[in-house]
Amino acid sequence: MFDVIIVGAGPAGMTAAIYARRASKSVLVLEAKSYGGQIINTPDIENYPVEAHISGFDFATKLYEQAKGLGAEFKFEKAVGLRDENGVKTVVTTKNEYEAKTVILATGSENRKLGVEGEDALVGRGISYCATCDGAFFRKKTVAVVGGGNTALEDALYLADLAEKVYLIHRRDTFRGEDATVQKLAARENVEFVYNSTVTALHAEKRLNAIDVTNKDGSVRTIEVKGLFVAVGRIPENQNFASLVELDPAGYAVAGEDCRTKTPGVFVAGDNRTKNVRQLVTAAADGAVAATAAIAAIADF
Ligand code: NAP
Repeated sequence: MFDVIIVGAGPAGMTAAIYARRASKSVLVLEAKSYGGQIINTPDIENYPVEAHISGFDFATKLYEQAKGLGAEFKFEKAVGLRDENGVKTVVTTKNEYEAKTVILATGSENRKLGVEGEDALVGRGISYCATCDGAFFRKKTVAVVGGGNTALEDALYLADLAEKVYLIHRRDTFRGEDATVQKLAARENVEFVYNSTVTALHAEKRLNAIDVTNKDGSVRTIEVKGLFVAVGRIPENQNFASLVELDPAGYAVAGEDCRTKTPGVFVAGDNRTKNVRQLVTAAADGAVAATAAIAAIADF
């Protein structure tokens, strides 16, 4: 039996692993995909203390090596269930079952889709959810980014260096993301803001070649683009644990800043928790808080 099983190897989960290992607890980190979580797709992190610039990939890799170097065990298996029997937690994955005294759910979130007809069929043929992964395919071409949060802003900035032209389409007339990035985009000659608009149709033969954008006033504009980068937010990945963790209407795991859930010994850390500020630094902070709470719970086990 592990002292702590951490579900999710993003910044929250890997920070929790560091804290638990430094307290000499046995730690298993389960991850469905690759380590790093959402941040691995961020081209340039500028708001993490001490590092003025670091790529998401470098950040995630350093964190992974730090946690592994301290002795955290990583298994790349998707956790699909969680049971609590007299305090013993069992995490069920697609391959195995693992027991632990405590569990930290740091599962983060997955891409929200636009919900426009034909979207799924065009993924990899013009539609992407990751500018850093796929941006290079659109060098010197015209692309659009949809969304108004930091992801959309940063994606647009990244693509502005590669693409001939970038349309940034947002459903309101003010952005949710940081003003500093908006100012950088406004200074780019090849970036055009398309406000108060949503993507309502996709035109494609084999690949995407144009999109219809409908303004709040009802007017429709067809824009020729080779790529459409969708950055309209994330959906928390908590459904598999809903029997032991209360979820809010949006699917976030209900927990305060102490990261405690309704089940003793089960904690939640990072973007899948109810909170106001979902940032790298707050994800890392959650990891530390959740691990510290788990360490205290292990002592009472
Ligand atoms: P987000 O902040 O939730 O923004 C999602 C955006 O998509 C919003 O502007 C929203 O519009 C729009 N949207 C939602 N559904 C839509 C739909 N169906 N059609 C069109 N537009 C839609 O998501 P995010 O940008 O992925 O960021 C997630 C979190 O990570 C945020 O807290 C963000 O600050 C953080 N983040 C931080 C960094 C960094 O620290 N460097 C980088 C990236 C992300 P409304 O504004 O109208 O709601």
